[in-house]
Formats: sequence, C-alpha cells, structure tokens
Amino acid sequence: MPQRKGEGIYNVVVIGAGTAGLVTAAGTAGLGGRVALIERHKMGGDCLNFGCVPSKALISSARLIDKINRAEEWGLRKTEPQFDFNEVLTRMRARRAQIAPNDSQERFESLGVDVFRGQAKFRSANEVEVDGAILGAKNFVIAAGSRAAIPKVEGIESVPYFTNETIFDELNFKPASMIVLGGGPIGCELGQTFARLGVQVTIMQRGSRLLPREDRDVSEFLEKRLKDENVSVMTNSEVRSVARADSKIDIKIAQRTSGEAACETNIVADALLICIGRRPNIDNLGLDSIGVDADKRGVKVNSYLQTSQPHIYAAGDIVGPFLFTHMADAHARVVVRNILMPFQFLRQKIDYAVVPWCTYVDPEIATVGLNETAAREKNIEYDLIVQKLAEVDRAVVESEESGFAKVLVAKGTDKVLGATLVCESAGDLLHEFVLAMKCRVGLGTISSTIHVYPTLAELARKIGDKYNKTRLTPTARKVFGWLYRRNLH
Ligand SMILES: Cc1cc2nc3c(=O)[nH]c(=O)nc-3n(C[C@H](O)[C@H](O)[C@H](O)COP(=O)(O)OP(=O)(O)OC[C@H]3O[C@@H](n4cnc5c(N)ncnc54)[C@H](O)[C@@H]3O)c2cc1C
Repeated sequence: MPQRKGEGIYNVVVIGAGTAGLVTAAGTAGLGGRVALIERHKMGGDCLNFGCVPSKALISSARLIDKINRAEEWGLRKTEPQFDFNEVLTRMRARRAQIAPNDSQERFESLGVDVFRGQAKFRSANEVEVDGAILGAKNFVIAAGSRAAIPKVEGIESVPYFTNETIFDELNFKPASMIVLGGGPIGCELGQTFARLGVQVTIMQRGSRLLPREDRDVSEFLEKRLKDENVSVMTNSEVRSVARADSKIDIKIAQRTSGEAACETNIVADALLICIGRRPNIDNLGLDSIGVDADKRGVKVNSYLQTSQPHIYAAGDIVGPFLFTHMADAHARVVVRNILMPFQFLRQKIDYAVVPWCTYVDPEIATVGLNETAAREKNIEYDLIVQKLAEVDRAVVESEESGFAKVLVAKGTDKVLGATLVCESAGDLLHEFVLAMKCRVGLGTISSTIHVYPTLAELARKIGDKYNKTRLTPTARKVFGWLYRRNLH
C-alpha cells in the first residue's frame, strides 16, 4: 500500500528544486524510488527564474537590436531599432513562462515526486524538517545552489541595487545609466545586453581583465568589442564606498594604474547591478549539527559526491567548482546512480576532464579543456592552432566574421587538449571539440570528416586541415615532389 505524502521513510529527500535537485528527483522517481523534493522559493531555481533562461531571452532581443543597428552591413538602409524597454522585458518573462511548466510542482508530482514548499533544515542525519513536517530518508541530496555575493563596502545597505535575483523581475524602468560590478561571465553578458537596450553601462572589474578564466587575448577581444559598443570598461577598479545621490547611486572607486598607487574617482549612475561572484547557500541547513563539512566555497564532497556523511550527497552550485546548469545536471546523474548502488565500488566518480562552458556575450566565447594559460600553469607542452573566422565563408556571408578559434593539441600529436571559440554560435560549435575530447577523436579525423558547406561548422574542419599542414615535413614534401615529377614522365 503506497505511503501518504510525508509519512514513512523516503529513499531520497532532495533539498532545492533547481537543476541539480530536479534532475535528482526526476531520475530517482523514474527508476522507481520514493523521493521528496523541498523548495523554499521558486521551482526551477536560478537557471529558470533568475539565470540562464531570462538572461538568454534578453540577450536574444539585444542581439536583434544590434543587428538592426548594423543594417547597412547587410545592404539595408541605416535604421534605428524601434523598441520599448519594458516590452523587451515582458517578452523575456513570457519566454521564461513558456519553459516554466517543465520545472513545475504539478509536473514533478505527476512524475511521482512528493513536493514540499518551505525552508529545509536537517533535524538529524536522518531527518529533515520543512514547514513543520519531519521527513525521514535513507539518503539526502543537498542541492541548495548559490546566490549573488554582495561586496562588504561602506554604504551598500543604504542604496538600492539589483542582483540576478531581482533584475529580471523588479527592474521596471529603463535606467539611463547602470554600473555593473563584476566583469565575469554574468557581468559581461548583462552589461552588453543592457547597453544594447540603450542603457549607458559601465562594467567595473577588480582584476586587470574581463573573464579572467579565459586567455588574455580572449579577454582583450571582448573588452575591445564592448568598448566599440560604447560600454565603459574599468579594470583594476575596486569599490570603496557607495551612497545615494538624490535618486542616483554614487560609487567611489580606487583604480590602480600600472606601477602607480590607486587613484580615487567616482561614478554616478541610475542603477547598480552586482555580479561579483556567487556564494553557496549553506546557511540555515543545519549542516554543522549533523557533521556535514562545508565552508565558504560550499559543501565538501568526495569524488562520488558524498559529503562527510556518506549517505548525504550534494550536487550543483553548492558543490562547485563549475557553476553551470549542465554541471548541476551532470552531478545529479552521478548522484542518482550512486544512491542506487549498494556498494562503493559500483559507484561512479564525477569526471571533470571535459567540462565545456560558454559566455553568451556577442560573439559568444566557448571553452572546453585547457586554454593556453592553464596549459602553461600545468607545464603541459602543446601545439596551438588558430583559425580566424574571417576565413570561414559562412561567417563572411553572414557579416559575422569577427572572432577566432584556438585549439590546443598535445605537442606533436593531433590529440585535442582544449578549444576556445570566439564567434557567433560558439556554444553550439564547441561540441565538435567536446565530443572529440570525450571520444579521443583527433584533429586528423575531424579534418577528414565531410562538413556541410557553407556552415560555421567548417571552422572545425579548417582547424583539422591546419593541423594536417603541420605534418607536411620537408621530407614528406620532397617525397610528394618526387611522386609528382615521376607522374609527369
Ligand atoms: C545571471 C545568470 C546566468 C546564468 N547563465 C547560465 C548559462 O547560460 N548556462 C549555464 O550553464 N549556467 C548559467 N548560470 C548558472 C546556473 O544558473 C547555475 O549553475 C544553476 O542554476 C545551478 O543549479 P543548482 O540546482 O545547483 O542551484 P539553483 O538553481 O540555485 O537551485 C537551488 C534551489 O535550492 C533552493 N534552496 C536553497 N536553500 C534551500 C533550503 N534550505 N530549503 C529549500 N530550498 C532551498 C533555492 O531556492 C533554489 O531554488 C547562470 C547563473 C546566473 C546567475
């Protein structure tokens, strides 16, 4: 006889209905497990509500605005894009609403998941409390995600500011100007987007360059592109204090210039968006009381994603180190399998060898595996193949030839160590290299694979061809020359 919701012992209780929690719950229920899912805020977590989905919907409108602004490049008459800021935001929310049913409570209940709404807290290592109910389980999955970090600077509590959690729903006017604190992926994506929507944007970055995880030439490319689009980019800049100035926000900044002491300056803007990084949601879960190790970087797990209490797993942003929806999904799949397996030797380790990501600036910047910086840091010898987009016919006919691709191969071989693509649809194009790395397919094979002409995918084939040319040694050239001469006789 099936047990009533909340009663008896669950196979798995999952805390957090973001990607990691949803995939864990759906996977467990699909395999026949009894599973409870607890969410304190919105079903779908950050990705659906305050992250990937709304940001990419806004980016889509902003990209069209940019194309209209560049109409002459397609032989059209110069024209001003006509749009209403609020209507663009409304469209973004409508697109999000179209996807939302996939993550809804109703859908998950229809899959056989018991969904509870409220703040979850461990009462013991075998019980979680939510909204007065106590749920017992054999296994738990902490998938509580992350939130925007807020800088501890003077005055921050006295000014209104946006984070990813508020910007998509609470911004109800078009600010004339906006300061974006943070030049990482989220700051760059949203900075470029709001600039294209007609806001005067300043991106302020503490470090010396944007997207510090990428190679320097990639950061420089993006910085130039943003500046060309009238985004102000301030690097080496640290916020000292913030204050209200009438209806605006006044930010004092210390900017370091090369070799000199920091000089103080200030900027006044209508809106402030904070994107300086993420903090794991480890507070108020009662982790201390049950002996689950966690620190400011997140919940500590072994390679099976078990916490210091082996029956309690953790997945997604709360674990890190890659804060992406696809990583949360990958964690969840490993967790579902590992909970089902009765013995440790049957459990799967999480594999971080081939982790791709994409920053959805325009043009996109997508990376997998090693870049030059990482290879040098790890003392890994490599050969570098660079391909300009300007040599890919499809990019030229589409007037999207700005960008390049860099592929690292193990020195003297065609084994792909990593790839960075900076171009239109880079996030999609990257997957040829992702699969190549995963399945150990070399550039030689990519070169000999027939690619459709004219597509942007030819980028990969051209990189393969460039690799092949490096194999044409002087001796091989002599042999071929001899064969041709012989052929003429
Ligand atoms: C602006 C922005 C854009 C992004 N764009 C991309 C992108 O394009 N591609 C990409 O791959 N990634 C992107 N990300 C990252 C992506 O959103 C996250 O990596 C992903 O959402 C992590 O999923 P998660 O399940 O670990 O956590 P979350 O989605 O944060 O879900 C955790 C859930 O747990 C709930 N919760 C927390 N504590 C408790 C508790 N005690 N009790 C009950 N519930 C609790 C929260 O309310 C939340 O719903 C973006 C992030 C941001 C902020």
